[in-house]
Amino acid sequence: MEPSNNIVNLPNLYVMKQHPIQHMLKSEFIKLEEKEDSFLSEFNNKVIKLFKNAFWKSKSLKYKVFLLKTIIFQRKATRRRAKYNLHGTHVPAFLIFSVTHRCNLRCKGCYANTFRDLSGIPPKELELNKMEQILGEANDAGSNIVLLAGGEPFVRVKELFHLATKFPQIIFPVFTNGTLLNQDIIQTLKKHRNIIPVLSIEGHMVETDARRGEGIYKNILNVMQLLNQNAIFFGTSITLTRKNFTLVTNQSFIESILGYGCKLFFYIDYVPVISGTEELMLTEEQAESIPQITTKYQSEYPALFIGFPGDEEKMGGCLSSGRGFFHISPEGYVEPCPFAPVQAADLNEVSFLDALQSPLLKAIRANHDKLVETQSGCALWENQEWLRDLNLQVKAKKVTPG
Ligand code: SF4
Repeated sequence: MEPSNNIVNLPNLYVMKQHPIQHMLKSEFIKLEEKEDSFLSEFNNKVIKLFKNAFWKSKSLKYKVFLLKTIIFQRKATRRRAKYNLHGTHVPAFLIFSVTHRCNLRCKGCYANTFRDLSGIPPKELELNKMEQILGEANDAGSNIVLLAGGEPFVRVKELFHLATKFPQIIFPVFTNGTLLNQDIIQTLKKHRNIIPVLSIEGHMVETDARRGEGIYKNILNVMQLLNQNAIFFGTSITLTRKNFTLVTNQSFIESILGYGCKLFFYIDYVPVISGTEELMLTEEQAESIPQITTKYQSEYPALFIGFPGDEEKMGGCLSSGRGFFHISPEGYVEPCPFAPVQAADLNEVSFLDALQSPLLKAIRANHDKLVETQSGCALWENQEWLRDLNLQVKAKKVTPG
C-alpha cells in the first residue's frame, strides 16, 4: 500500500506504536488539511502531499524533523493569513520572487531576457538587506512559500543561503538552469533543506540543448544524480510547447526523470512573449488536457505534478495579483505575474501589505471573473488590452512598452 495515502487511515494501534515524531506529524497534517478550505485548497493540499511523501520516503531522522518543523510553520502561516482575511486582506500563500536578471546562459525565448530587453531599463537588483525586509514582512503576513526565479538565482548563491538560514519558516523552490550547482553548493544545500532546486529541462538532450546550449542536458542529469545521492529534494520545470508536448507528457519520459530521483514536476505553458513564436503555443486540445494529465500522474507516481497556468482552471482561474501569488521583480517592483510584468507597486517605497492593496492588484482581483483562460493558457496575456486599459485607469506605471 502507498503509505502517503494512508496517513489519516492508520489503525490506532499502529499510530500508538509510531515514532513520536511520526505521530505528531500525522496530527499536524490532519489539522492543516482541515484548514485548507479555500479556492486554493487543491494547490495547498498538493504541497502538503509533497511533504507527506517526502516524510514517508526519507530514512533520515534529521530530514523528518525538518519536515515536521515545516508543517508546523505552514500551519502558523495559514493561521496568520486567516487572521488577515478576517480583516479584509487576502494574503497569498505563495510569492514568485525574481532575485536577479543575471544569468550565465542565454536560452532562446527566455521571459526574463525578453522583458528586460524590451524595457530598455538597465537591470538593477535589490540589496540583501532589502530582500530580508521584504521576506520578513511576507512571512509575518503568512506568505511563506517563495519561489525564487531569475535570471539564474544561483548567481546570488551566498545571499540565497543567507536568506534560507534567516528564514527557516519559508520554503524556497529555486528555478535554476542547474549549471552552477557544483559539489560545494550541493553539500551546502544539505544544510539548507528549505531550498528546493527546480531544474529546467525541455525534453531529452536534443530539445534541451537546442534551447539552452550544448552540454546542458548532460549537466542537468549529473546534477540530478548528485542531488539524489545526497538525498536532496528536487524538482524539474518543463516549458510545454506544441513541439515537445507529446514527448514530455509521455509516461516513459516521466519515468526516466523519476528514475533520477525527481519528486516535483512543473509544467509551464509556453507563452509567446516574442512575436513570431506563436506557432510554439499549445494547441487547444493540448492545453485542455493538462489538468487530466497532472491529475493522472499525481495519482500514479510518488511525485507532485503542477501545470502552470494549465492547472489554474481547477483553482478558479488566474491566480495572479495576490489571489494565489504575485511577482516581485529583481528591482523590487510588485507585478501581477511574471507573464504580466506591469508595475503595480514598488517595494522600495511601500510595505508588503500596502503593495498587496495597490490599486492595480485590487482591480485585477476584483475583475477576476473576466479572466478567462483560452488557448495561450495565460488569462492576462490573452487580455493584454484590458490589462493596459485597467493599468491606465489606476495610473500604475508600466515596466514594458505597450
Ligand atoms: S497572469 Fe497568466 S500565468 Fe499568471 S496567474 Fe494569471 S493566468 Fe496564470
